[in-house]
Amino acid sequence: MSVLRAVLLAGSQNAWLRDRAMHYRFVRRSVSRFMPGETLDAALDAARGLQQRGASTVLTHLGENISEPAEAEAVTAHYLDVLDRIEAGHLDGQISIKPTQLGLDLDVGTCFRHLMRLVDRASAVGNFVWIDMESTKYVDLTLELFRRARRASPRVGVCLQAYLRRSAVDLESLLPLGPAVRLVKGAYREPPSLAFPDKKDVDENFFELASRLLDDDAQRAGATVAIGTHDGRLIDRLRRRIEAAGVDPSRAADLRRPGGYEFEMLFGIQPRLQARLVEQRQPLRVLISYGEFWFPWYMRRLAERPANVWFVARSMFAR
Ligand SMILES: Cc1cc2nc3c(=O)[nH]c(=O)nc-3n(C[C@H](O)[C@H](O)[C@H](O)COP(=O)(O)OP(=O)(O)OC[C@H]3O[C@@H](n4cnc5c(N)ncnc54)[C@H](O)[C@@H]3O)c2cc1C
Repeated sequence: MSVLRAVLLAGSQNAWLRDRAMHYRFVRRSVSRFMPGETLDAALDAARGLQQRGASTVLTHLGENISEPAEAEAVTAHYLDVLDRIEAGHLDGQISIKPTQLGLDLDVGTCFRHLMRLVDRASAVGNFVWIDMESTKYVDLTLELFRRARRASPRVGVCLQAYLRRSAVDLESLLPLGPAVRLVKGAYREPPSLAFPDKKDVDENFFELASRLLDDDAQRAGATVAIGTHDGRLIDRLRRRIEAAGVDPSRAADLRRPGGYEFEMLFGIQPRLQARLVEQRQPLRVLISYGEFWFPWYMRRLAERPANVWFVARSMFAR
């Protein structure tokens, strides 16, 4: 891990820095590159625009590690409203939640109850809930939440991180469930004993994990893979693999025909690559983040690409 990345990821957990950075106008201006706005209305507007351009969306209300039961309750109520607003707006939009935002740090039972309220509502309106993967401390609990929820409903998927050495084993353990898995490289600060420190190993593991989900037996079991990356080379390599395997686009929300794949990217990142995939009739879902609690999430976006730090520095002097 580069020094800059390590510093930015350490900074993402620093409350002093957060309280100051969130008030600087130049920081807020640079955040807007990755976020259409802080409100749900802004996110829904952006989702509508993307849908007109041929992409589906997944909405996530920023926040993590809540410390009060009432906060978890409020987050759940918010997402129930999001599911209703998506339905009312006829949007092909899903939701993505963080377990610690639903109270995982408080207790697993409460978090599971909140998760199931969302999964039940998603099932009732024909939608879908994604569970994000946070730092390694939460992986076992998150997978357990997913397993329990998946036994109750197929309208839930989970994220796995290719930088983690354990992910291949975790994936094998999930396959009998015919899971919907969003594969990403991983965005947290993890030690080399747990996560591959070299990018080329992470990329290779990503390819292997995605390939496993595209294998015949996994597809027959109903596995769906959401390929969550902006890495053009990896995407091209996986498209060749998809074509060779004859796998169809994903229908994570269409349970009549489970299995398949889709690409997922973050709002504002690699827009030309996003447009190219849509032009080539590849299924693309764009994750739109919104909300006031954007600091740790934004620091992870900066850490992903050192050039972003120069972008922030330049915005300091922009009018
Ligand atoms: C839909 C979705 C959901 C995600 N959910 C999770 C999650 O639950 N848990 C988790 O740990 N991580 C999550 N991530 C983040 C992920 O782990 C990576 O940190 C992030 O996607 C960057 O990695 P990459 O695959 O794009 O590859 P990289 O090799 O990092 O980037 C490939 C190229 O994409 C561009 N790029 C990548 N990131 C940026 C950026 N921030 N700004 C500008 N350009 C950039 C650059 O051109 C770069 O060369 C998610 C990502 C996506 C797309």
